[in-house]
Amino acid sequence: MQGEIHVAVVHRGEPRYARLAWSHELYCAGHLIQAAIALHRGAGDSGLLDIATRLADHLVSEFASTEKGLDGHPIIEAALAELYRETGSGAYLALARQFVDQRGHGLAGDSGMGRRYLQDHVPVRELVSETGHAVRALYLEAGITDVATETHDHELLASSIRRWDDMLAAKTYLTGGNGSRHADEGFGDRFELPPDRAYNETCAAIASFQWSWRLLLATGDAKYADHMERVLYNGFAAAISADGDRFFYVNPLQRREDHFEKDDPGRRRAWFSCACCPPNIMRLLASLDQYLATRAHDTLYIHHYTGARLAGAGVDLELVTGYPWSGLVTLRVLAAPSAARGLALRIPGWSAATTFAINDSSERPVPSHTGYLNLHREWRSGDEITLRLDMTPRWTCPDRRVDAVRGCAAIERGPLVYCFEQADQAVRLDELAVTPGTELTEREVTLDGIGRTVQVSAPGRHVPPEPASAAQETTAVAIPYFQWDNRGPGAMRVWIPGS
Ligand SMILES: [Zn+2]
Repeated sequence: MQGEIHVAVVHRGEPRYARLAWSHELYCAGHLIQAAIALHRGAGDSGLLDIATRLADHLVSEFASTEKGLDGHPIIEAALAELYRETGSGAYLALARQFVDQRGHGLAGDSGMGRRYLQDHVPVRELVSETGHAVRALYLEAGITDVATETHDHELLASSIRRWDDMLAAKTYLTGGNGSRHADEGFGDRFELPPDRAYNETCAAIASFQWSWRLLLATGDAKYADHMERVLYNGFAAAISADGDRFFYVNPLQRREDHFEKDDPGRRRAWFSCACCPPNIMRLLASLDQYLATRAHDTLYIHHYTGARLAGAGVDLELVTGYPWSGLVTLRVLAAPSAARGLALRIPGWSAATTFAINDSSERPVPSHTGYLNLHREWRSGDEITLRLDMTPRWTCPDRRVDAVRGCAAIERGPLVYCFEQADQAVRLDELAVTPGTELTEREVTLDGIGRTVQVSAPGRHVPPEPASAAQETTAVAIPYFQWDNRGPGAMRVWIPGS
């Protein structure tokens, strides 16, 4: 039996697929299909997969080779492509491709927010920059990359890569977040990146992570893994409170002390009525181990560093590290075949001075922007690779075309973006200034509400608002951005004015 029951549509007494711009019918179907595949792969349980394939068969019979419409909220494209991978049924991939190619022709209907909001204003092959609702745009890109990869459509893949490059250059916050406008939860103009009005929905961070992962698999370019890391440790991780009980739907880079959005003070909450983010957070956390490493030919690529057991290309490894606090990564070979194998270690773009050693050899430098350090040899059980990444805190200055933060600076340490919270400052946060380039010092501390962390301090200046008042020396203290809003409602900012 095939069919589809969408409770909201049934409850309203509406016919199926009559209001696809807003109904989320195929969006919910996409999530159900992805959940079914995850359950099958992770637990070997095919019960939900049987339901998902019947639903997908129904969608094929309803939509294939028709212009019946497009869901206003993409994800069905990526879900159908993944179901094709899981089942081998070409009809699912064909329908995913059809949905991708039909985008840009007005088939998603009228959302009341304009066609750009639904990415339905220009065919995707002609689209040069991300527009509209950020989560929709980024889920669509994941589906586009899946379809391009599975159908060997180089033109389609190139269009997605072009937009990713543009997004990173001009439409992404330092935290990896996307979405500059509250009105449509959407992308703004190029370089329109206000820190206080940033939207940066948590789901957009997750969708961006998933798109970058697909581009990493399609191209092998380490820049996609670098960005996944930026999103994971900053824009995504900040969504969750230290106690795990509250979450952010919106992730700005600045909160003033008197901030309100309508009646909301902009703190993490136990619940939002639109509750897409919490289950999305849980599915990313539950699947993180799947993103650590991949195999290509005789080489095991290690993309992300955390304590783990890894196996691939016949090599079993133990990965030991205190990342992201420590830049020391140790790989121990537990078992290896009697033949040469490659171990490729990602060298993050931020690591200015990286070294590595094998067993007792002296440490050797790795050139910056190496991408992956590929070590190819016959490995033996007990071999040990030591990788030392440069965790020296660093200043980051914005592109001067980002008007909202021109003249400001931020601090990063390893993969972590830092922020300044009022709780750590000796003076009012909005009267604090820094001089980029001055020496940064770090220290491990334990803070109430946060626990252990690494603070970074910079020489600062207290600049009172009265023109006649002289600036005084002070210290500016930063903590990792993902740990903010765990100590009360005070002000926070990532970008701090230069003096
Ligand atoms: Zn969400």
